[in-house]
Amino acid sequence: MKHILLVATGGTIASEQSENGLVPGISARHLLESVPEIGELCHVDAVQAMNLDSTDMTPERWLHIAARIREAYAQYDGFVITHGTDTMAYTAAALSYLIQNADKPVVLTGAQRSIFAQDTDARRNMMDAFAYACEDDSSGVTIVFDGKAILGTRARKLRTRSRNAFESIDYPPLAQVRDGKVLRFIRMECHGPVQFSDCMEDKVAMVKLVPGMDARILADLRRYCRGLVVEGFGVGGVPDYGDGAFRQAFSRWAQEQKPVVMTTQVPYEGSDMALYEVGRRAQTGESFLEAYTMTSEATVVKLMWILGQTRALPEIRRMFYTPIAHDLLWMA
Ligand code: ASP
Repeated sequence: MKHILLVATGGTIASEQSENGLVPGISARHLLESVPEIGELCHVDAVQAMNLDSTDMTPERWLHIAARIREAYAQYDGFVITHGTDTMAYTAAALSYLIQNADKPVVLTGAQRSIFAQDTDARRNMMDAFAYACEDDSSGVTIVFDGKAILGTRARKLRTRSRNAFESIDYPPLAQVRDGKVLRFIRMECHGPVQFSDCMEDKVAMVKLVPGMDARILADLRRYCRGLVVEGFGVGGVPDYGDGAFRQAFSRWAQEQKPVVMTTQVPYEGSDMALYEVGRRAQTGESFLEAYTMTSEATVVKLMWILGQTRALPEIRRMFYTPIAHDLLWMA
């Protein structure tokens, strides 16, 4: 039997009703006791890394989760992390950068309803996550939710209430889990030994452009941030309003050697800033990067990870455009 470590972090799956609404309070041990069938699949140990609504997730907490996995990595065959759904896609991306070339599965799951709710999806998601973690062919960071296994760098939460909360963006699901059986479509290759990082820069902002937005907002952010991600319109456009204010704002980030990454607010099919004049005119040299086929979640988290390792622009550029766990599929 495989030996799996459950790392519990909170979320709706572990929530109880309080007079102020749902709050995480159910322990890792209690979660496991609620799904006794897991004991027939594998040996499980459990640690409570934290117990919070994932609204309160932070880069420091990602480092803490990664450290718990690092210290237990040699002892276990795989890891299941229970987590709130709201920021699960960010955490999945973060762990994909913090734990690279993992030859063992690191599986995130959660639920849209508490494990104590009558119509809960928690039991099924936990069973599926453990079934996936026990499979010989499973490796790397993956979300298992509503019967789908989604690569950690490709996930996005697209529904606030339905069971099928997550989609795999521009990448097929790795597998389906049906009645406890894993039907695999894609097997991830591991190149080299597992590599852990222990640093992330949290001073990274993401701004979604809206029509008429004032470019001075970016100047304010520059005072607090080391890097910026801008979600532009469509395939790639930045406003001009006839005064070039956005381009100038980007130039100031460049003068301070701070990277600006353009991405798109459209979930599917990525960006191509070279297609339109409104995209090309915004580009300001070495500090200006483009997310292309990366999700917004992966983009912002990758920048946090890179800035945790280096402040040198050529190295930031090289690392950003080096694909990791299929985050960058192609560059237009
Ligand atoms: N607010 C909850 C969380 O992200 C939502 C959930 O888990 O579904 O922790």
